[in-house]
Amino acid sequence: MRQDDARQDGARHAQEEMFNDRRLASFLAASLIALSLAGCSGSKTHDDRANDAAKAALLKPKKPAPPPRVTNRKANIQGVVFIPEYHRIKAGKGEMFRSPEQFRADLQTFYDMGFRPVLASEYLANKMPLAPGASPIVITFDDSMPSQLELTPDGVPTPDCAIGIWQDFAKTHPDFPVHATFFVLPDHLWTTNVVDERKAPYVRGLGSELANHTMKHPFLRKMSDARVKWELGAASEKLAELGQSLPTSLALPYGVSPKNRALLKGFDWKGKQVTFTGVFLSGAGPAKSPNSKKFNSLKIARILAVPKRFGLDFWLKELKEGRVRPYVQP
Ligand SMILES: [Zn+2]
Repeated sequence: MRQDDARQDGARHAQEEMFNDRRLASFLAASLIALSLAGCSGSKTHDDRANDAAKAALLKPKKPAPPPRVTNRKANIQGVVFIPEYHRIKAGKGEMFRSPEQFRADLQTFYDMGFRPVLASEYLANKMPLAPGASPIVITFDDSMPSQLELTPDGVPTPDCAIGIWQDFAKTHPDFPVHATFFVLPDHLWTTNVVDERKAPYVRGLGSELANHTMKHPFLRKMSDARVKWELGAASEKLAELGQSLPTSLALPYGVSPKNRALLKGFDWKGKQVTFTGVFLSGAGPAKSPNSKKFNSLKIARILAVPKRFGLDFWLKELKEGRVRPYVQP
């Protein structure tokens, strides 16, 4: 009997609840009618208008949000381009050295100043894949020094070589990938001993590129045309063997041109035409924008990564203090 009582009790409660629910529903319906009548009469409350706006926003097709600007600098496609030139990433004195700590700091500085990496080939073609507000930086490494790329037996860059440092940085800054231009000596690819066959494909696999720096790193000015042709032509041939598509750019050893400058525009060698997309010097200052009337692809300035006057630190300071106007992507 007690069970039946409980059942009846439960049913009564359910009925009451249902009744309450119905009352609530009819109250809500009445309120809605009142609201929509108010709407018809044109006397919408502030909240109504806000609701309508929210509904309209939901119905409208969404426009993709514009990508955020990297900096708030004004677009400037005539501005100068920074092309730092590194040799050894190692502690030491003189122009050939930049310590691993300093290189790590450089990457952070570049990033914070709104620079994003582009290849020499992209700069020369005036096709720089940059986000709005970013400035290009063409990071170049000369002479294929071992400290630029050391691989462990497992094929991983060591943490203190240039590529190891940069890869580590790119992990937390994915919009600053390891895209650099390596002006290499093809018989000394990141070694003073036996060439490690894994290195060139590794570099290219990162989206970096190889470019011409001659075979033996001579003073080209002292050489015959035939010898200059061999220095440049044989190096291009080796780059092609390493899978690098031709033509590449050329960095002149010591920034010194051959006596016959016309050779830099191209020449015939072993029945093939050897040409360059551009010719880079050594040191001096920021380079012209590829949009500048004064841009000369056979004389492109670079900035030595050294602390002295007209070195990298000097020009970064000039930029920070507003005395240099960089290229800024619209
Ligand atoms: Zn060199």
